Amino acid sequence: MIVGGGMGGLAAALACARAGWEARVYEQAGAFSEVGAGIQLGPNSTRILTEWGLDGALARVAAFPARLRVRSALDGAELAQLRLGADFTTRYGDPYATVHRADLQALLLDAARDNGVLPRLGCRVTAVFPSEESVALRIESDGEAEGDALVGADGVWSDVRAQVWRDSAAASTGHLAYRGLVAQQDLPAALRSQEITVWLGPRMHLVAYPVRGGDQLNVVAIVQGATQERPQHWNHAGNRTDLDAEMGQLCASLRDLVHAMPGWRLWVLHARAPVASADEMVRGRVVLLGDAAHPMRPYFAQGAGMAIEDARELGHSLSAVSHGEIDVPMALRRYAFGRWQRCARVQDLSRRNGRIFHATGFARWGRDLSLRLLGERLLDQPWLYGR
Ligand code: FAD
Repeated sequence: MIVGGGMGGLAAALACARAGWEARVYEQAGAFSEVGAGIQLGPNSTRILTEWGLDGALARVAAFPARLRVRSALDGAELAQLRLGADFTTRYGDPYATVHRADLQALLLDAARDNGVLPRLGCRVTAVFPSEESVALRIESDGEAEGDALVGADGVWSDVRAQVWRDSAAASTGHLAYRGLVAQQDLPAALRSQEITVWLGPRMHLVAYPVRGGDQLNVVAIVQGATQERPQHWNHAGNRTDLDAEMGQLCASLRDLVHAMPGWRLWVLHARAPVASADEMVRGRVVLLGDAAHPMRPYFAQGAGMAIEDARELGHSLSAVSHGEIDVPMALRRYAFGRWQRCARVQDLSRRNGRIFHATGFARWGRDLSLRLLGERLLDQPWLYGR
């Protein structure tokens, strides 16, 4: 039983079904509808999609940028670049892709359905009753359900986590993400781009990259230190005047890009301290996966990547039960032990990247100098992208 039909829950359903399990997904929303925004997938994620036979489907909807360029938000100067495209595919065996979230979700959903998963929509899980032999769920408007194992893939405000682990809620990072999406053809030629561009400024950064085969440009601006009262949860209309004020001084080309966006949606970012042990991801027959387990700042572009990796590991561990090698609780422990340290490292680096991206004063000067001198060596992450 999988609570949550986001990227993590659907990937988990697919991986479990491929491992020979009957996977049931309970999603509280009435329809699958990811937000209108993009997502970057490193070779560590595209490799798994390929393993699941989804590389062809991904190639039809994604963009494969040839390079990532880092620029100063203040004067537009190029600080460093990382060659992606064919160079990356040669180095790591799998591509770096950028994709619209709805396209990735549709691809996972179709694959899960093809493998016999029937996701249940409008099913909010309100209570979890784990025992030694099974796990039971109470579902709003749909009675109860029972299964061998429960996967809490219910995101940063996980109800499964709150009920089974009973720890405190994820905390606001004090950072706001503004997201916008625009058709490239609606932009002036100088602002169109088929590359990933990261603009770094004091207490802010902005990332732009193509999605939908390059037809659209996805833009995410992250600012910190905003003092206004903000709603707690996701996806509110963002106000460009606030964004302008929060971004501060920008070079002309970046200001033009911000002003060319037709609209913005606003997210208040939440995260937790890095996972400290496998016990934070498993308890008896219950495991956590994706943002429910390790919500992170998006400065490494790996939150969904870690959820996809979690799903693969879970499927792999559960296949050992299908083969009669171990029992379910042991398989779930194996999953948590296989995952927690890597997830913690990515959480930690995401936090550190935020400090580097948003550096001010002397630290900013040192960052820019390091990027100019070391460029690709700083930006590449062989330990993360490699096999
Ligand atoms: P979610 O997507 O939050 O899904 C949880 C699901 O559970 C939801 O559908 C919810 O409705 C459902 N649910 C919740 N409670 C219940 C309940 N009680 N009963 C039933 N259903 C329930 N990651 C990347 O890899 N690359 C990127 O480039 C990237 N960029 C990002 C940019 C920003 C600005 C942000 C904020 C995040 C970014 N991420 C990125 C992170 C990524 O979006 C998340 O890590 C990922 O979406 C988490 O997926 P999930 O399935 O774990 O959780």
